[in-house]
Amino acid sequence: MEHFIPLSVPNLNGNELQYVTEAVKTEWLSTGGACISRFEQEFAEYAQVPEATAVQSGTAALHLSMIACGIGAGDLVIAPTLTFIAAVNPICYVGAEPVFMDCDDSLCIDPVKLEQYLSEECEERGGKHYDKMLDKPVKAIVIVHIFGNGADMERIMVLAALYNLPVIEDASEAVGTFFITGKYKGQMAGTIGNYGTYSFNGNKIITTGGGGMLVARKTEHVKYAKHLSTQAKSDELYFDHDYIGYNYRMTNLQAAVGVAQLEQLAKFINVKKRNYEYYKELGIDLMPFSNHVRPNYWFYSYMSDNLNRLMKHLEKCHVQARPVWKLIHTLPMYKHCRTYDISEATKYHKKIINIPCSSNLRNMDVERVAALIKGFEE
Ligand SMILES: *Cc1c(COP(=O)(O)O)cnc(C)c1O
Repeated sequence: MEHFIPLSVPNLNGNELQYVTEAVKTEWLSTGGACISRFEQEFAEYAQVPEATAVQSGTAALHLSMIACGIGAGDLVIAPTLTFIAAVNPICYVGAEPVFMDCDDSLCIDPVKLEQYLSEECEERGGKHYDKMLDKPVKAIVIVHIFGNGADMERIMVLAALYNLPVIEDASEAVGTFFITGKYKGQMAGTIGNYGTYSFNGNKIITTGGGGMLVARKTEHVKYAKHLSTQAKSDELYFDHDYIGYNYRMTNLQAAVGVAQLEQLAKFINVKKRNYEYYKELGIDLMPFSNHVRPNYWFYSYMSDNLNRLMKHLEKCHVQARPVWKLIHTLPMYKHCRTYDISEATKYHKKIINIPCSSNLRNMDVERVAALIKGFEE
């Protein structure tokens, strides 16, 4: 029987074990220790921002961003329907509700429909933009850089300024993606909006087991999020707290893995790029990434008219693939929520599968997967 080819698994062949061992020897395992600040500093340097704060998950980073934006009960937050659910749930954690937006061919939020929604479906009252149908104010926009691609931040930021809305940029899947044209040329995904969040879950391009990072355009916002993530403790010794905080701080052990992973990120991106191109050379017509970014090539998307049968075929041949997420506005918890003109997401949802893309995938693995897909489609 041929060996199993997983979809996306961590690559831990760097200094992970060494740094974890060193961390264990220091006996700093928990939410204090030198690796945490080292990981934060090195990540901030990589992302070219002054400061970053490390948390337990990408979801926690998103939750803290919502709180820091002052979003609460009765508010609306615009979010994509085609995304992993963790980008949406934090809207509800703070008592607000999502308004679901369509994607364009980048799979990220469609800026044209976003503009239409804001200009036609909302009206201004006292400086706020109210959804006319729901009579509730729109308070923020969540942008997700799907599969390592980059959303059209230039157009989105123009709209955000026009409608005075903060942007929470979920770059969980786009660690290492940066813009190569236009106003944000050279800037990393996640560093353009008011808040940027990253995830280091097990299947992301770099992992800490579980973990996340938060950055913000204003350094004081990063500091505030860090404060919230550490139980909002305002006095170290006397247990004084000034807010209902959270236990969201990353642990030293997670950060030890993170430091080692970050050392290899450039290499991971190179391998993923090479494998992406190799699939294409072998005749697999993968979806393109946008021309305005150098993507991190996190996930490869293939479109098939026979999605379910192709999935079964690959599974039978010990190759792991997966369909794209169920559209969030169709899930029971969200099906009552406001949607705006969703059509492309529905189309893509029916067709896209993600195929093996780990950074330790070998040429022979790519060749086997490509042969299976070609054999099936012929
Ligand atoms: C993985 C992911 C998250 C959540 O990250 P966790 O670290 O698993 O909490 C959020 N948004 C998107 C788009 C993701 O892919």
